[in-house]
Amino acid sequence: METQAPAGMPAVPPPIAILQMIGGYWISRMLYVAAELGVADLIHERPRPASELADATGMHSRALYRVLRALAGVGVFTEDESGNFHLTPVGAALRSNAPGSMRAMVLSELAGEHFDAWTNLAQSVKTGEIAFDHKYSKDVWAYYAENPARAAIFNESMTNVSEATNAAVVAAYDFSSIQKLIDVAGGHGSLLAGILGANPHLKGVLFDQPHVVNGATAKLATLADRCEVVGGNMFEEVPSGADAYLMKWIIHDWDDEHSLTILKNIHRAMTENGKLLLVEMVVPPGNDMDFSKLLDINMLVMTGGCERTEAEYAALLNNAGFKLTRILPTQGPASIIEAVRV
Ligand code: SAH
Repeated sequence: METQAPAGMPAVPPPIAILQMIGGYWISRMLYVAAELGVADLIHERPRPASELADATGMHSRALYRVLRALAGVGVFTEDESGNFHLTPVGAALRSNAPGSMRAMVLSELAGEHFDAWTNLAQSVKTGEIAFDHKYSKDVWAYYAENPARAAIFNESMTNVSEATNAAVVAAYDFSSIQKLIDVAGGHGSLLAGILGANPHLKGVLFDQPHVVNGATAKLATLADRCEVVGGNMFEEVPSGADAYLMKWIIHDWDDEHSLTILKNIHRAMTENGKLLLVEMVVPPGNDMDFSKLLDINMLVMTGGCERTEAEYAALLNNAGFKLTRILPTQGPASIIEAVRV
């Protein structure tokens, strides 16, 4: 009997399919080591053998070679006949400060607080509780407020993903009828900067926790005449008076009760007939692999949030006084869920 193959992979016997899944964990560990060492930046300067990369990073030459060879097997690097390692387009995404970089994402998701929480997945499954909170006796946002170094990596990782998906969100939605847009929990504001950049008529407000907006992207400073930066707590209130409120990857952080508090605060703050735009993954029906189903578990262990189906979003929005009007797909991984204040 053969299992159904993931897209692009040959069908394999069931035990091999399991081995491949085990390998998924090993690959992610190696990816973390490669990202942490910054080997992609070194290889980008010029292709090099593992021995040179090991010298430059203070690693053991043969061990590093074996990791790079394994990562070459999954398309991150290529090794040529003379033993020099080159970057593939996937490997190039491990560079720092490069367009399309996912390095901070790797450093955030595969280490520290994220890794610790995932090792406690069974705890979440047993109790339904947040593995992170169980392990650290506080929530992840309180943890970040106390751990600026890990918070900086997390915020940069959100900027990584935003940069990878910004253009897709900007292209998928017509902002022409909107006057003022508030990005609630907008992180460092890279999505807002992208939207304002493409829509010269639009005024914007970046809203997030005070310690987060302090690190707002330099791109927003160039739009200062059209953009305000406000620090605060979305569970208490959000800035009022805008005709559109955007939240990207926020509602999925929270359970229904917390989500309702945020949504009701926005409902109260927005102008009549205001619009709400949620940028989220929507869990599709059926058994196909979809990244939303994996991210859903990351939410279970990290924040107590979840990824939701269309019906679940419609019900949640309805309970907060909104009506879901449409869901627009984007070229990126997320959709835009549009709702109006009723
Ligand atoms: N929308 C951004 C950031 C998503 S990460 C993006 O897509 O890149 C989640 C964000 O929620 C973080 O920036 C965090 O600081 C913010 N957040 C968490 N609790 C908050 C609160 N009580 N008030 C305002 N923002 C909050």
